[in-house]
Amino acid sequence: MQTKIIKPGDLEGDLFGNNAAFACPYCSKVFIVSQFLNSKGRPCPKCGRSTGHVEGKGENRRAYIRF
Ligand SMILES: [Zn+2]
Repeated sequence: MQTKIIKPGDLEGDLFGNNAAFACPYCSKVFIVSQFLNSKGRPCPKCGRSTGHVEGKGENRRAYIRF
């Protein structure tokens, strides 16, 4: 399993406040993960093969996708 960290400047994702957007590496579906609503991550709603996560606080907040 691979982990890719998403930074706000990345083309294939975004991190804004408590929310992050990811593009699933398998099916290309773009989906949003909320740190509050999806505290254990959110699987890709189309194929379920990747999972987006948002963790941490303030400057230490980070978004990553496991696939
Ligand atoms: Zn997918």
